[in-house]
Amino acid sequence: MSIMVPSKTPALITVGRQALDSALHQLDQAAEHLGLDDGLRTVLATPRRSLTVSVPVRREDGRLDVVQGFRVQHNVSRGPAKGGIRFHPGTDIHEVTALAMWMTWKCALVGIPYGGAKGGVAVDPTRLSTRELERMTRRYVNEILPLIGPEKDIPAPDVGTDEQTMAWIMDTYSVSAGYSVPGVVTGKPTTLGGSLGRSGATSRGVQIATLAALGRAPEGVTVAVQGFGKVGALAAQYLADAGCKVVAVSDITGAVYASASSGGLDIARLRTWASETGGVSGYRHADALPLDELLELDVDVLIPAALEGAITEANAPRVRARLIVEGANGPTTPEADEILTANGATVVPDILANAGGVIVSYLEWVQNMQAYSWSSGEVEVKLRDLMESAFSEVKSMAAARGLTLRQAAHVIGVGRVAEAHQMRGLYP
Ligand code: NAD
Repeated sequence: MSIMVPSKTPALITVGRQALDSALHQLDQAAEHLGLDDGLRTVLATPRRSLTVSVPVRREDGRLDVVQGFRVQHNVSRGPAKGGIRFHPGTDIHEVTALAMWMTWKCALVGIPYGGAKGGVAVDPTRLSTRELERMTRRYVNEILPLIGPEKDIPAPDVGTDEQTMAWIMDTYSVSAGYSVPGVVTGKPTTLGGSLGRSGATSRGVQIATLAALGRAPEGVTVAVQGFGKVGALAAQYLADAGCKVVAVSDITGAVYASASSGGLDIARLRTWASETGGVSGYRHADALPLDELLELDVDVLIPAALEGAITEANAPRVRARLIVEGANGPTTPEADEILTANGATVVPDILANAGGVIVSYLEWVQNMQAYSWSSGEVEVKLRDLMESAFSEVKSMAAARGLTLRQAAHVIGVGRVAEAHQMRGLYP
């Protein structure tokens, strides 16, 4: 039996619904390959806990707004739940569930002792003042307080949240506990127990995965990056540092392009421009490019590092990059995935390519639990070890069983979680 995907009418298909359908499809394929029984498939397809909360926010002008927030723990069979918190107006319970499910397989794939979770608030953080954002964050945390904790569920940054958000979460939780609890979140400022190397960890992992998948020297390899946020900007930087020519990047404000023959983009300069002006648009040392064209450029490597559903069956036939490394979660729909594979492209899947973030989050949590800290060199060695061994396991599994890298990564991740369930048995 295949996993049941709830029925849908076209009017109700949101980005989140599509993401959840993709996640269930990938689970279904892996479960089929592993020969899992129907009961276990249903357990794995269903979140363990799912909480929707209303978050009242007092605005600066005295008005009271109410926004919806979510926290989903998809699976905790291998350890505490772990996953980011997203502030984005399009976030819904389906998207958060899909992201939590991907976290479960990701943690299992890279061999860290966590289950998967995700949180979100359906809000545009750029439309709130800093004080409104702080009040909203603290109230949201208060609403989900019974679920989170260093031994239960540990949030981290995602789209629209950052170190400051994590500091407010840590403080809110600590005030309620009556003492400081740094291990309740990762991706904190280093002054509060954040790990050295965490802010660039996802991007460093994307760089490691890209170089491993390239299988040749990076000098002169052309790269386009969609999304110039926490993951995309530093992934572009690290790949440029390694010798690649990053020729195009985009964010919500626009896309910019500089040909490889002109040396590609100066990423350090562009990062300064984007942080001073709020985006890449208007950068004078490159040409403007229509947003959609970035995905279809004639480059060696394409890195989608923005949101889900960027590569669909509509644009996949026009994607010319031979290597796609998913910095974002769920950027490729299953239909697009089939088209890319049929066209001979290699896709390094999200649960492998962007796992550097949760790996260093885990290292941060270990340091917090021991009240100890490692040097950035120690953190980077451990990150590299875990990323490289996960990459080679996925590659070997794909070659041995004739699978794509995504299928192999899911077979390993889902297989480990299924095994944990089988070993633990069912209570009562
Ligand atoms: P972010 O909010 O820092 O950045 C998101 C970027 O995407 C912004 O630059 C935004 O302008 C851009 N963007 C949004 N829509 C776009 C569009 N249509 N075209 C081009 N650019 C667009 O978020 P982030 O933390 O960098 O996360 C990006 C992705 O990486 C998400 O899928 C997230 O789940 C995933 N991820 C993040 C982490 C992490 O540590 N932050 C870890 C693993 C995976």
